[in-house]
Amino acid sequence: MKKGVKKTGWISEQLCVQMARTCNLYCVYCQNPPAGARCSKEKTAALVGKKGVRAVSLEGGGEPTAGGDFFDWIRALKAAGVENFMLSTNAVALSDPAFCRRAEKAVDYFTVNFPSHDPEIYRKATRSVKYGLAVKGLENLKAAGAENRLRLFHIIFRDNYRLLPAFAGWVIKKFPGLAFVNFTFVRNAGRVGDSAAIVPRYSEVEPFLKVALAGLKLKKIKAVVQNIPLCRLKNFEGFSFEFQRWRRGDKVLEAGIAGKAKNPACGRCGLEPACCGARADYLKIHGNGELLPSDLDPGSLEAEAF
Ligand code: SF4
Ligand code: SF4
Repeated sequence: MKKGVKKTGWISEQLCVQMARTCNLYCVYCQNPPAGARCSKEKTAALVGKKGVRAVSLEGGGEPTAGGDFFDWIRALKAAGVENFMLSTNAVALSDPAFCRRAEKAVDYFTVNFPSHDPEIYRKATRSVKYGLAVKGLENLKAAGAENRLRLFHIIFRDNYRLLPAFAGWVIKKFPGLAFVNFTFVRNAGRVGDSAAIVPRYSEVEPFLKVALAGLKLKKIKAVVQNIPLCRLKNFEGFSFEFQRWRRGDKVLEAGIAGKAKNPACGRCGLEPACCGARADYLKIHGNGELLPSDLDPGSLEAEAF
């Protein structure tokens, strides 16, 4: 991106381009594992041009930078009129300084899936020995001047939730100037396969997550929480991504996300309109015993400053 130019309006209007087809990691919690199917660059570019799309998010089943044709995609989409690019990546490819410098020039925002600052947990999460490469990729982005365009996407799962406060401390130390941290509760989809060994309970995660959020807030580092019901974020509801969407008048759940599961607790809860609710895939593993209906009006809650 042209440095110093602030562009945010396009982010909510971007088109997701599912161009990834393979991956260089093998995450236990992968919700959209690569199937190897190749998406046509030419057809996608033609569609993008016809629709007049100006902003895209490069993603898909897998890792966009792992297919060997990453910059060909950017070239084709630029030729079709795209001006802004967001990349969803695990940062491993960015460990190559030349690749990183080139990507930094082409991409406006980097959303990096990074499951742990702890090498052993990272190894268990990704079933790889690429921790050092991923960290190097993050450091290269920072060195290239893109720290403020970095969003760390931290999927909360069974093996990393107790380290959430330590993860926040690592972010504060290593990347205090990043755009924000997105804590997303793992979805029971893709490789997760109904496993309680991967999906923790909301109530187990809650105290660790709150300490992490408070630590980041104290250092003025932005954070959001996705896919955790408001009743499990008591006094921290303002960090909820879905609550923030509701406040600005958007649909609570993003397009493509499975709807809320119906259950008696939510049916009598005042926060329901602004809450992501519990998902059917979660209830299948842990049931609805942790959901606590509230009399609060969501309009009475304060959003964290985003
Ligand atoms: S979660 Fe992302 S990085 Fe991990 S295996 Fe799936 S596509 Fe690859
Ligand atoms: S009871 Fe249901 S609607 Fe209310 S906060 Fe909890 S999950 Fe959300």
